[in-house]
Amino acid sequence: MAYNEKYEEVLKRFESKNLDAKNAAEARAQELRNKFPEVAEMDAVLSKTAIRIMNASMEGGNYQAKVQSILDEVAAINEARSAFLVENGYPGDYSDVKYECSICNDVGYVNGKMCSCLKKELAIAGYHSSGIYKLIQKENFDNFEFKYYKEKDVRENIEDIYYFSKEFAENFSRKETRNLLFIGGTGLGKTHLSTSIAKVVIDKGYDVVYETAQRVFKDYEDERFGRAQKNAEGEYPSAKYEDCDLLIIDDLGAEMQSEFNSSALYGIINTRINLEKSTIVSTNLTQKEIQERYSDRIASRFLGNYEVCFFQGEDIRKQKLNRK
Ligand SMILES: [Zn+2]
Repeated sequence: MAYNEKYEEVLKRFESKNLDAKNAAEARAQELRNKFPEVAEMDAVLSKTAIRIMNASMEGGNYQAKVQSILDEVAAINEARSAFLVENGYPGDYSDVKYECSICNDVGYVNGKMCSCLKKELAIAGYHSSGIYKLIQKENFDNFEFKYYKEKDVRENIEDIYYFSKEFAENFSRKETRNLLFIGGTGLGKTHLSTSIAKVVIDKGYDVVYETAQRVFKDYEDERFGRAQKNAEGEYPSAKYEDCDLLIIDDLGAEMQSEFNSSALYGIINTRINLEKSTIVSTNLTQKEIQERYSDRIASRFLGNYEVCFFQGEDIRKQKLNRK
């Protein structure tokens, strides 16, 4: 989902959150009025506050004093109302509007600036639409562990890649296209660092799509053979691989080897280069295997347009298992 759609969807949710909070408060007030005639009486007076203030200010003369006396009366009634509720076993603010966010009252903005609660919701919506909501909680820059890279040169290598990835993520922008190719065996941190980059880029407000190569090719295949469903916007699932700001293809080479997959891969890589959009590809294949498995033109696309990181070390998943 593109950023604008996400933004509108989240904002719509905020509008209904705000309205729900008001309606729920009104329902609680009604409950109190039904139960206690005293509250009904007080609420009847309170409900006329706005009109009384308007009338008073139109009368002219010393209207400020009149308005002040109305406000004082309202404050006294509110105080009495709340005391009455407490006496009868209710919280004093029982029928107050209870917003989720007391800073912006669930509007999402304060003085024209986006509230932190809206920023957070947008990031979460971004994690969901990226396809790695759960993974992002588990694997990000903050919990990457260097201790699994024991040998000195292996350790230095992963530190280089870690800081390089961090720099890539923090400086990500639509203006500068950069592509990464993560090469290395299973369990060496390729997925962890891809996810970490995804989180930072999503938090910056960009549209990220993260998929396994298997899934990506399946989507193209389904479309090719008329099995794909269009979404509400009339687009095939594969459209997101071309539209998003950052596409991350995980585990290239795990998919079935076929002429179709090979040309689909060239299509994605090439289209994104032409559209000047950034892509990250991670794979267990060596450069030579990429060349043999796909084609020279794909290999040369990678060579000419991708910055390559070679992951080294011992499978972390195995290391963790052995310790148990
Ligand atoms: Zn807020």
